[in-house]
Amino acid sequence: KMIKELKGAILVISGPSGCGKSTLLKEIYKSIPNYYFSISTTTRALRGEEEDGVDYNFVSQEEFEKDIKDDKFLEYAKVHNNYYGTMLQPIIKALNDGKLVIFDIDVQGHKILRKKLGNLITSVFITTPSLKILEQRLIARDTDTTEMIQKRVENAKIEIESFTDYDYLIVNDNIHKAIKEILAIANIARAKTKIFDKKSIVENWINS
Ligand code: ADP
Ligand code: 5GP
Repeated sequence: KMIKELKGAILVISGPSGCGKSTLLKEIYKSIPNYYFSISTTTRALRGEEEDGVDYNFVSQEEFEKDIKDDKFLEYAKVHNNYYGTMLQPIIKALNDGKLVIFDIDVQGHKILRKKLGNLITSVFITTPSLKILEQRLIARDTDTTEMIQKRVENAKIEIESFTDYDYLIVNDNIHKAIKEILAIANIARAKTKIFDKKSIVENWINS
């Protein structure tokens, strides 16, 4: 029932850590108007060049668990032993403002969002051509310890099983091809939800 009242659209991007999500998201930001990137809340430590309030809202485990209790999350999950979650309020606001809301979340979060906001969602799973290449990219990125990289590689073997839950799959081999594909998907995400805005579309169509 809530869905009918919301004007925007949702683009969910998932894929194992190191598959190229951040790289591809930057390309979307360059060329898609009126988007809102959902800044997640996490208990994991800051990495590399990350900034609090920009890449994530970094909080303690106690703060996170309080927000769970207070029902503030649209969804949350435990990934690599840390909490990650999406606050509900900013998402409702962005959707009401007609934005394309972009999520970089894991496969568990995607499952929950599908149940809650299914019709608004266009989703894409991104992966590398192989597990070996994923590991090589994580090593080359040089932002995680060897132990963290191993944990991410192990988790990737489980995450890959869920790609069939998604609308689209991008194998990020050639970066130029992957950019073309992600932009095509981001551009079409809005068209999918226009059908929920029947009243204003019909009125405009008749009156202009
Ligand atoms: P994620 O956000 O999914 O964890 P990143 O965007 O940080 O992944 O990409 C992981 C690493 O792989 C980065 O160092 C990035 O520059 C590199 N990378 C991304 N796409 C490609 C590609 N198509 N070919 C080679 N390296 C890539
Ligand atoms: P990273 O630590 O590499 O930034 O993210 C690890 C994983 O957590 C990625 O798969 C990322 O998509 C996922 N993630 C980030 N934010 C959220 C969130 O708010 N909810 C869920 N469910 N997963 C998230």
